[in-house]
Amino acid sequence: MCSGPCARFVGRNGIFCGVWHPKLRQLAVSIPRWYRGGCNFCRWRQRLIVRAVRAQADAAFSVACFLHKVPSMKYVYTFGDGRAEGDATQKPLLGGKGANLAEMSRIGLPVPAGFTITTEVCTYFYANQKQYPPELQAQVVAAIANAEAIMGSKFGDENNPLLLSCRSGSRESMPGMMDTVLNIGINEKVVQALIKQSGNEHFAWDSYRRLIQMYGDVVLGLKPETKNDPDHFEEILEVARHKAGVDHEKDLSIDALKQIVSEFKAVIKKHKGIDFPENPMEQLWGCIGAVFGSWMNDRALVYRRQYGIPHDWGTAVNVQAMVFGNLGDDCATGVGLTRNCSVGLPGFCGDYLINAQGEDVVAGTRTPKRIEESLSADAPAAYKQLDDIGRILEKHYKEVQDIEFTVQRGKVWMLQTRNAKRTGFAAVRIAVDLVNEGLIDAKTALEKRRIPADDLNQLLQPIFNPAAKAAAVKADQFLAKGINAGPGAATGQIVFHASDAEERWNADNNLQLVLVRKETSPEDLRGMKVAKGILTAFGGASSHAALVSRQMGKTCVCGCDKLNIDYEAGTVTVAGKVLKEGDWISVDGFTGEVFAGKIETSPSEVMDVLMGKLAPEKSEIYSRYAQLMAWADQYRTLKVRANTESADAEASVKLGAEGVGLCRTEHMFFDHLDEMREMIFSTTKVDREKALAKLLKFQRDDFTHLFRTMGSRPVTIRLLDPPLHEFLSEHHLHEDPTLGGKLAKTFGVSEEQVHRRVDELKESNPMLGHRGCRLGIVYPEITAMQARAIMEAACAVKKAGVDCHPEIMIPLAGYKTEVDNQTKIIRDTAETVCKEQGVQVDYMVGTMIEVPRAAMTSGEIAKTAEFFSFGTNDLTQTCLGISRDDYKSFIGYYTENDIVPADPFQTIDQTGVGRLMKTSVQDGRATRSDLKIGICGEHGGDPKSVYFCHEIGLNYVSCSPRRIPIARLAAAQAAVEASKGK
Ligand code: PEP
Ligand code: MG
Repeated sequence: MCSGPCARFVGRNGIFCGVWHPKLRQLAVSIPRWYRGGCNFCRWRQRLIVRAVRAQADAAFSVACFLHKVPSMKYVYTFGDGRAEGDATQKPLLGGKGANLAEMSRIGLPVPAGFTITTEVCTYFYANQKQYPPELQAQVVAAIANAEAIMGSKFGDENNPLLLSCRSGSRESMPGMMDTVLNIGINEKVVQALIKQSGNEHFAWDSYRRLIQMYGDVVLGLKPETKNDPDHFEEILEVARHKAGVDHEKDLSIDALKQIVSEFKAVIKKHKGIDFPENPMEQLWGCIGAVFGSWMNDRALVYRRQYGIPHDWGTAVNVQAMVFGNLGDDCATGVGLTRNCSVGLPGFCGDYLINAQGEDVVAGTRTPKRIEESLSADAPAAYKQLDDIGRILEKHYKEVQDIEFTVQRGKVWMLQTRNAKRTGFAAVRIAVDLVNEGLIDAKTALEKRRIPADDLNQLLQPIFNPAAKAAAVKADQFLAKGINAGPGAATGQIVFHASDAEERWNADNNLQLVLVRKETSPEDLRGMKVAKGILTAFGGASSHAALVSRQMGKTCVCGCDKLNIDYEAGTVTVAGKVLKEGDWISVDGFTGEVFAGKIETSPSEVMDVLMGKLAPEKSEIYSRYAQLMAWADQYRTLKVRANTESADAEASVKLGAEGVGLCRTEHMFFDHLDEMREMIFSTTKVDREKALAKLLKFQRDDFTHLFRTMGSRPVTIRLLDPPLHEFLSEHHLHEDPTLGGKLAKTFGVSEEQVHRRVDELKESNPMLGHRGCRLGIVYPEITAMQARAIMEAACAVKKAGVDCHPEIMIPLAGYKTEVDNQTKIIRDTAETVCKEQGVQVDYMVGTMIEVPRAAMTSGEIAKTAEFFSFGTNDLTQTCLGISRDDYKSFIGYYTENDIVPADPFQTIDQTGVGRLMKTSVQDGRATRSDLKIGICGEHGGDPKSVYFCHEIGLNYVSCSPRRIPIARLAAAQAAVEASKGK
């Protein structure tokens, strides 16, 4: 840093360069004015001159920085007037909003000039006690000058003022989670200039009161955080509206607005002990600090946890010239979608309000009009501009876009574009349609950012049973109709406050709740998460409620303006009925209908087609689903199997299962508890074999059915796994007080002996006790019976012409000797059965990898085992030392406080458990190169875990039947992502 005489000019932070540089840039921008009125050639020449002068200014700035040893770190990127320093590829640095503002400016769309302060400043801010890098100030000053030059007005000027907005913008959009301040730069003098400039006194005073309110809420922290906190500004507005007898502040008189401004200022003085800052620069820095500060607010933290967005990404801050949608009736503001994002229908749509400012639309305080219904009549020229812009954007981004715009005196200005959030329904339809329209190819359509695999679940969820819904209509249960913002069917008890919803649901996870609110705000996120459905009285398809529901895949009806909600009384009055908190209500997110009471649900359309209850050609949703799944199957390399016993094996095949990855035989035993208990009571091998002989028949029948259903697909059958007390314990005796007597009689023992046997079976740590292969080793006759049942069933179906492939799986082994022991029994039995039956069956014997020792000695174990299947439920439990049955009491705290990145029983803990898995795969395949390896823990249906399984080279994932389509799509996405890296 220069410390010589020129420090006077330079300052220790390079201020000199920062002041001098914008002057040159400003000169460059003012050049076109000299040529105003010239021909096309003149204009082209002007542009070249402007660029040349700007380039020289930038070069000179760099040299000056270098000479004065000002670090050349660039923290501010300008955009506007058809140019930008950044572009759409720079989302990590500029955030999504900043990168897209730059991109829109580059492709010639009308963007108010401004600049983006990078996410690196956010990182710096949190690493340095909320200080900024020293270079920032000069760069901001320069960027403001650039915006002033483009917009032809000056920030803070008392004659021709430029007003600014300050918005957050992180790499991934986090709708409504962080803060925004508009109209920055107004003070007592500027408001007068604004009156002259706009010729609209109401607008000027309304803009001023909005600034003070937002500044107070966002910068000074006066925004209420809980339902009990006072909202000082809203209270003042409420009184003013009441006094004037109007519903909205747009109808207040100028005098009333002036009064509000002074009362707002008094609120700040009273509650914060400071004056509202008159200095526009002070206002701006306050806002920049608040936006960076909002990165760590509670709702942003919750949101990031929910969507796995790293906290260290930080947000950028976008400062932009204000354009006004509230200057009069030739002005408007709105949010639009280039396609419908609830169900995916093509066509520009969205919400707008005439003579309003941006926040009015998303806040949901006024129900906006629909673009597709009335904008072409209200503002034909603006509608045409918007429609054209929508088409340009879709072509450019090859994705459905969610835009924010303002119409100022008939001209459309773009404030934002981003890839639109959509429901699972819309995601599938849009991806398939974009391929069919030739905008993208099938591989691109599968990308996980287009269709988060979990969202496919929405297509498989139940809908209202048509007969039950018709009965509800007949019974006069219909209440009202709102906007169908989140497809699905939700029935639940009414709750009016998100915090109550959260509290009740935490106390009882089985509660079905419908959150009913006038509108929702980001503070309601936690309550929205636990509610089955969301119903609001205000707000359109782009309101907070709609947006967040779409993203969470929640059923949502919004803007149902017939609802009269009284939070204090805890009632909602509609269609002459009064419903209280706790009453049942049903919400149809496909149609927007709301009903009193419960309505039964029935399977989704896609499920109906898959199960043969509806003809495929009758369902549009199904046709696109089928198209997408065909592409997924074409690209994926991981196979997908089902965890299933007989009952839903058929459904699994229809959902796309390519085999059974886990048949838990104990589920079959639960249907034959008497015989099982007889076996448990047996004290000698002979008695045990007698009881097992009875079970043999049942097992054989079950396996026969399973093999027939699965045909030539492989079927992995796990030998008995749970501890015996799961079949008989004190709990069972307590539940059924006659059971002790019955058992005593059946087995010819005293009731006391029954209790003694039950006591013997009791274990302190049952999941680490006598279970898994330890049972089959101590009682080899159990393994022999199961192996016989499997092989007899296989021989029977083989004789009937089904080429079945049983894979017999040994549970919970940790030692090779355990696998050897069980394999010998299985093979000896299999050989005997095949000889008896005169049939050869292609079977395999393998083991689960469920304990760390098995993972660490996989090279040894693979000498015997022909396949591995990761039992990640137990492997997580044994690797982490966390009981899967007893972790509920703390896991919520752990995830909320970032002790763990995610629930390890839902998403594989890649650093710990994942490392064991990798070692096991490598060592196992080093011994047996063709070792077949799969996963059958619950993680097999979790998209993130599926990606991991692809990465470490598993052959298949196995999951519960409902999650098979999700696993198929996730497997394809893993393959698509991996192919990008090649
Ligand atoms: C596992 O441990 O991952 C597994 C599939 O077995 P279970 O859940 O039946 O213990
Ligand atoms: Mg297990």
